[in-house]
Amino acid sequence: MASRCTRTCSASSDAARVTAPITLRELAEIDVGRLRGVGERKREALAAFDIDNVLDLVTTYPRRWVDRTNEARIEDLVTGTEALVLVTVRSVAKRLLRNRRTMVTANVGDGTGRMQVVFFNQPWRERQLTEGLQVALFGKAEEYRGGLQMTNPIVDLIGDRTGRIVAIYPQSEKVQLTTWELAGWIENALERCQPRGVADPVPDAVRRRLGLIGRGDALRSIHLPETMREKEAARRRLAFDELLRVQLLLVMRKRALEHEARGVSHTIDGELVRRFHDHLPYPLTGAQLRVIAEISADLAAPHPMHRLLQGDVGSGKTVVAVSTMLTAVQGGHQGALMAPTEVLAEQHASSVRSLLDGVTVPDPNNLFGDRPLRVELLTNRIGGADRREVLAGLADGTVDIAIGTHALIQEGVAFHSLGAVVVDEQHRFGVEQRAALRDKSSGGVPDLLVMTATPIPRTAAMTVYGDLDVSVLDELPPGRTPIETRWANGGLLEAEVWADVREQVAAGRQAYVVCPLIDESEKLEVSSAEETYLRLAAGELAGLQLGLLHGRLTPADKEMTMDLFRAGRLDVLVATTVIEVGVDVPNATIMVVLDADRFGIAQLHQLRGRVGRGEHVSRCWLVTQHTDEPSPRVEAIVASTDGFELAEVDLELRGEGTLMSTSQKGRSDLKLASLRRDRELVSLARDAAFEIVDVDPKLAAHPELFDELDLLFTERDESFLTKS
Ligand code: ADP
Ligand code: MG
Repeated sequence: MASRCTRTCSASSDAARVTAPITLRELAEIDVGRLRGVGERKREALAAFDIDNVLDLVTTYPRRWVDRTNEARIEDLVTGTEALVLVTVRSVAKRLLRNRRTMVTANVGDGTGRMQVVFFNQPWRERQLTEGLQVALFGKAEEYRGGLQMTNPIVDLIGDRTGRIVAIYPQSEKVQLTTWELAGWIENALERCQPRGVADPVPDAVRRRLGLIGRGDALRSIHLPETMREKEAARRRLAFDELLRVQLLLVMRKRALEHEARGVSHTIDGELVRRFHDHLPYPLTGAQLRVIAEISADLAAPHPMHRLLQGDVGSGKTVVAVSTMLTAVQGGHQGALMAPTEVLAEQHASSVRSLLDGVTVPDPNNLFGDRPLRVELLTNRIGGADRREVLAGLADGTVDIAIGTHALIQEGVAFHSLGAVVVDEQHRFGVEQRAALRDKSSGGVPDLLVMTATPIPRTAAMTVYGDLDVSVLDELPPGRTPIETRWANGGLLEAEVWADVREQVAAGRQAYVVCPLIDESEKLEVSSAEETYLRLAAGELAGLQLGLLHGRLTPADKEMTMDLFRAGRLDVLVATTVIEVGVDVPNATIMVVLDADRFGIAQLHQLRGRVGRGEHVSRCWLVTQHTDEPSPRVEAIVASTDGFELAEVDLELRGEGTLMSTSQKGRSDLKLASLRRDRELVSLARDAAFEIVDVDPKLAAHPELFDELDLLFTERDESFLTKS
């Protein structure tokens, strides 16, 4: 309706609209029913596919392209191997078998050979596969009575389309739409765009520099390529647009934060941080020095820091976090460290306290020149008078460093002057939660450092954390011994694992046993841990000193168990994943992960990081049920101890959808682009976004740019991009 009004109301813009290249916005206003051959029934079928307008249609991309001149030929089939062939149906027959089962047999062929295709219990195939029809078949060819045969292959209908490259569209048996119908309508729609051409919102300079083809050409070539190279160029262009949209959003947000928010300018060359560094029992690593310098530069600047710190397990992030918070403290502000769980918050509190033990704050108002540093823990477990006291200290500024969970950002918590916030995103806080913490202070927006011990590939980081600057701790402190990782494939091997544990304990070392992960319920997980503990104590590890640690123990009990283990009074700690992060006992050299198949790569890597922290050789056993082959995850962990390498494998195995949302369950909103395959393109899109936004922060000169990129998406999962 809106478009019609524009046309009749304004003659001058009417003329412009007819001659100017057509925009995606305009295509979105044209109903698919206006295309030749789309009647009411087809319109409904298309609607079931979420295709309502011409834009939806032309952005329904093929899911596969087959080059019929040198691919997918019968002559190239290898028996026993899955492959795709493009063939013509020659004849079809249906037979009734015993037990009222049906068998449809089709004879198919191409220029290079013939083959028989058999379908069991798919009687409708007889009607579907008419003589002369072109189909793509995907399946395993077998030798049968001297000829080739495929049984129950996946069938894609191609129709009678010609051309060297055949595009195959997503289709479903339920909705009566064939790939050739879709292809036909798309071709028709693109032909109608031809006279005006398709508008290209990406600035010429960017396009030329990156060698991207025009948008109209790209839309045509993705659907109707003459060659595979053409298809690739089209995909690259359209994928770039998707990535540019995401990056524009993130870069605009980043710049807005920098320009619009008033931060705290910290004193970076202060006495307190110097004291802390001098007090450490070891020199900082090169990577720690570099990262602390990067952070210091941000802290000194007037705008708020918004930085991600990536560092593998054991790379020494805690020291960096503490330096950051102390920088705030030495200027008279406060620091906060927020962890995703109570256990982690407690662990952080105890390790930060021990790092700061003996460090005092220079204080000109104090007769003795120094005052103690006050570090407090705030979680929901802390209540009553203790809680009131901590809250009062946060509000009047006598608490220097607050460590806690979400409790820190709850209603009723106020800081006197929060200067720096460190968020440990082990399990990823949402953008909103980070924002809430920033809002806790009455003064300037506090500086924010997000720490993650789950390395994510660089280009993925640019997307998931694209509104942040990134620092990487890429060097482990010296003196670590490499961890040997082995797969224990079921029963017999498990006996070897326990023998190894006993041997290590006899040599004076200690061990962790990690119990099966039970996602659905902490209660079940705890009872499985208790069971494992009892079983081992009475059986395989009888005679050793065993301890049990899980999330349902009281903080005091947990503390006691950890103290005993640290002191070497326990030989083996049977635990749930509560030990994933923060536990640091150099004498523990062996870890056994039970039911290792249930854990993700990142989690296994984190767990394994609990050993290999001292001078002795460490080993990690991954125990699984007996299977023929290890799962790809177990295989990856056995093969590598490099967190970044594992992150790449993880991305490969899980797909990017899992990366994009805070719930880790969301789907990706990228249709063509892939954070895995298009790494180079992600960086290029990010650079281009900076180039555009830094000249024109609100896109005033290209008001349509964002909209025209945004329209490429039909499904949205913006949970990772929610407003902050
Ligand atoms: P992360 O949190 O990154 O996994 P931590 O901060 O827990 O790592 O540090 C891991 C271990 O390395 C701790 O035992 C810590 O004392 C030690 N460590 C940290 N920095 C250094 C350093 N520069 N030299 C030697 N040991 C270090
Ligand atoms: Mg740590």
